[in-house]
Amino acid sequence: MGCDRRSFLKGCAVATATAVAAPSALAADDERALPPEAIGLLYDATRCIGCKACVVACKKANDLAPDTHYVGDGLYDAPDGLNEQTKTVIQLYKGDDATSFVKKQCMHCIDPACVNACMIGALKKEADTGLVWWRGERCVGCRYCQVACPFQVPKFEWTKQAPKIVKCELCKHRLADGGQPACTEVCPRQAVVFGKTRDLLADAHARIESNPGLYNPKVYGETELGGTQCLYLAAREMPFENLGFHHSQEEAVPLTQRSVQHGVYQGFVAPAALYVALAFVMFRNRQSIEPTSQSEKE
Ligand code: SF4
Ligand code: SF4
Ligand code: SF4
Repeated sequence: MGCDRRSFLKGCAVATATAVAAPSALAADDERALPPEAIGLLYDATRCIGCKACVVACKKANDLAPDTHYVGDGLYDAPDGLNEQTKTVIQLYKGDDATSFVKKQCMHCIDPACVNACMIGALKKEADTGLVWWRGERCVGCRYCQVACPFQVPKFEWTKQAPKIVKCELCKHRLADGGQPACTEVCPRQAVVFGKTRDLLADAHARIESNPGLYNPKVYGETELGGTQCLYLAAREMPFENLGFHHSQEEAVPLTQRSVQHGVYQGFVAPAALYVALAFVMFRNRQSIEPTSQSEKE
């Protein structure tokens, strides 16, 4: 019985140590780096003429139905934002003295909140290219990814019997065939281009340096929210906050998510210790009412 008691105490010690050790192990999870072969888009608002060829090509390449929500008669595809039929959209923003088009799609964040929020790994970020995509066979439809995304990108097919999460996946089916995303292929102004994120960033800074009077000196996505693989240039007179980019902090959302999760784990330590203490009391009480020696049993 002494041995059983030792085993019980040892088990308690391991359980408690595990509960206490969990936060420090998770706390070691630090900022994420740009993947080695990271790919993405560079959108230059100063080049875009708002023709929406990219929107049309995206729908065709991704087999998405037209969005006739705002016109009603099914004659015109006119999405005003990302939705379950629209993986990219061109929006018009007005400043005090100027207007600007902005293309919106998934930013393929370096540390994606959607991936961190999905408890069963249905959203995946590729280790080499950093492409963020949805694995339908794993998804349970909880939509945590939708709530977590700071850019409101993932959309849910509410009207489908087997709904999907819809978001830009950088046309990975076209990349697999050696092609490029549909939006970058058709853009008549090269306002959106595809490439390695490091090259796109260098290109963006070169454009700013060669024409500082035209450009806002910031490349949006270089540092914001831990960095994104899709990058943006805007005109000097259009600050990014006027273009629907409301996040300027450098800390990635998952850093906050993880610190909260660590806090929750840490919060488990007290209940776990209490559970162990109660279990020990129950164990001791049971020992006190059960015969502990062969003579007592007899
Ligand atoms: S923009 Fe949203 S959906 Fe896209 S990778 Fe970032 S968190 Fe995920
Ligand atoms: S990369 Fe493909 S899915 Fe993404 S916005 Fe461009 S065309 Fe659409
Ligand atoms: S195709 Fe190019 S120019 Fe036309 S709306 Fe799209 S990004 Fe702008």
